Amino acid sequence: MGVLEQFGSAILSGDIKIVDLTHTLEPDFPVLQLPPEFGQCEPFKIEEVSCYDDRGPAWYWRNFSCNEHTGTHFDAPVHWVTGKDVPDGSVDTIDPDGFVRPACVMDFSNEASGDDDFVLTADHIKAWENDNGEIPAGSWAIFRTDWSNRSGEEYLNMKEDGAHHPGPDADAIRYLIDRDVVGLGVETIGTDAGQGHLFEPQYPAHALLHGAGKYGLQCLRNLDQLPPTGAVIVASPLKIKAGSGSPLRVIALVEG
Ligand code: MN
Repeated sequence: MGVLEQFGSAILSGDIKIVDLTHTLEPDFPVLQLPPEFGQCEPFKIEEVSCYDDRGPAWYWRNFSCNEHTGTHFDAPVHWVTGKDVPDGSVDTIDPDGFVRPACVMDFSNEASGDDDFVLTADHIKAWENDNGEIPAGSWAIFRTDWSNRSGEEYLNMKEDGAHHPGPDADAIRYLIDRDVVGLGVETIGTDAGQGHLFEPQYPAHALLHGAGKYGLQCLRNLDQLPPTGAVIVASPLKIKAGSGSPLRVIALVEG
């Protein structure tokens, strides 16, 4: 049997299971809040067009709108100014080869549970590699914090000085770029820490990853159902012309 034929059999037999890493797109799902002088991210909006009624007797459909960065979503290199000249750096032009990739799931949920501002460092990643092996080039680096168990105000965790949630420092990001990951996936509303504006450089995940042509995945969930290594993530953004990112359904394939 060819490898894809084996794969198909394993899907049908249940030897490979599908884990949904996606939050439901709904108006109540929180969006990033920037200081008021900046343009703002729109939440998900929905408008019914017809529902088996005089607007359309046999059909139900709706219009929706949202920001490219609403809900569980993908960040393309052009999202950040550092990535604006990355060739084929928008969601419609990036190589689809990157949409199906193995995942290295780094579980720092214990550390993050007691520290809203937990910072992922290069030493943390090296410690993870010590236990699980080197992160293979082309993999997703997935940062598990269990932050997705929160909702509403607690998810954004806004204080007087801005948002507080875990994120990586610049050395961690440089380390991941050195490993040539395809990108960084997180459970929080951004790949950077809530206080990432205080880091050097500011917002190191966005600034360094996108400058290096890497991707981001945000607002992931169910990471506790993934092994440290061996899962495959399917993350295929919408093909929006010149899109900086897009909401998407992210699934993981896991050996059952
Ligand atoms: Mn984003």
